[in-house]
Amino acid sequence: MAGTILANTLLNAGKSIKVIDNNHNSAATKAAAGLINPITGRYFAKSWNIENLLPIAEDCYRDLEKQLQAQYYTSVNIYRALFTIEDANNWSLRVQDERYEQFASNGEEKCNLYKLTNPTESLALIQRGARVAISKLIQDYKQFLTQKNQLLSETFDFSKLQISTDQVIYKSVQAKGIIFSEGYRLTENPYFNYLPIAPAKGESFVLSTKCKWDKSKVLKHQQYLVPISENQLWSGGGFKWKFEDEAPTQDYFDKQSEALRNFVKFDYEIANHLAGVRPCMKDRKPVIGQHPKYNTLFVFNGMGTKGTSLAPWCAKQFVDFLLYNKTISPEVNCERFAKYFD
Ligand SMILES: Cc1cc2nc3c(=O)[nH]c(=O)nc-3n(C[C@H](O)[C@H](O)[C@H](O)COP(=O)(O)OP(=O)(O)OC[C@H]3O[C@@H](n4cnc5c(N)ncnc54)[C@H](O)[C@@H]3O)c2cc1C
Repeated sequence: MAGTILANTLLNAGKSIKVIDNNHNSAATKAAAGLINPITGRYFAKSWNIENLLPIAEDCYRDLEKQLQAQYYTSVNIYRALFTIEDANNWSLRVQDERYEQFASNGEEKCNLYKLTNPTESLALIQRGARVAISKLIQDYKQFLTQKNQLLSETFDFSKLQISTDQVIYKSVQAKGIIFSEGYRLTENPYFNYLPIAPAKGESFVLSTKCKWDKSKVLKHQQYLVPISENQLWSGGGFKWKFEDEAPTQDYFDKQSEALRNFVKFDYEIANHLAGVRPCMKDRKPVIGQHPKYNTLFVFNGMGTKGTSLAPWCAKQFVDFLLYNKTISPEVNCERFAKYFD
């Protein structure tokens, strides 16, 4: 996702690019719902920088829709089950808080999701959410790059990279610079593996169902239920900081299929079980910018749990820096980790 959005932002700025990608199966993007949720977490906190991220994300995905003649971006209302009176009271405080005015509302009366799942204390309504068909988008974009002869489908071989102060050469490709955007595989990058990444594995199900689910409504109950096509819902999440491998696990399957049976009241089948590893940084912020020693090497990574909303804004920051010498916001600039580099 990160590489795709950045590639397109660079192309739109008139740059010529070559993308190298090995299409690995545990890429986070392949398991993701593509949800943009302005209020998350146990404490109903507004997502970092969300007011700035939202308009740039919508412009970016709408632009890709025009370019690739497909639909990716859907505005959604996110209904969040409130399980206890304490949760309901905390949510009421958000609804009354003017900083949350455009995002927080009460959900019950406007929502029929109660009929489809087990009722809870009440429902919160999170407004200004969106869902991006991110898996389809990256596939379509790969095809677009292939047609333009701008994609090398292979694993990057670091031993073939020649670096100098005004260019890099990789096999037959000569360029002014190289930007690394390998998700959690950043750990294998000899130039940027000093950055403090904390990869977090997540898993998800694709559910097939005949239940008529309104495309513009997402439910966060014991798990998310996100409509991804006419008769499919995405359900998933979960964080594992320690994991043996990147594959879907039996443990997740058993626990989450039981959880689904307990709160879902319509018929469905589990059509697919996916797993991916999120590129989370220790401070939970993206990491973008220039290498501390080699001025032709760059990083664009750390999208963590929120790549769909973060990547377009970060791509703009990055391109403004690269082409127009603007400063990257210190909160996402890789310079903040310079002390780890020796
Ligand atoms: C279960 C789950 C649910 C999620 N849900 C959401 C959600 O609803 N909304 C949201 O915003 N985010 C969500 N996320 C997080 C989101 O998936 C990430 O923020 C985002 O996908 C990160 O994108 P990325 O491009 O940085 O990494 P990746 O998707 O991991 O992509 C890395 C790319 O680099 C390539 N690559 C790596 N190493 C090499 C190499 N050596 N040579 C060549 N190519 C290489 C890979 O093939 C891959 O294409 C979810 C994640 C998971 C796991």
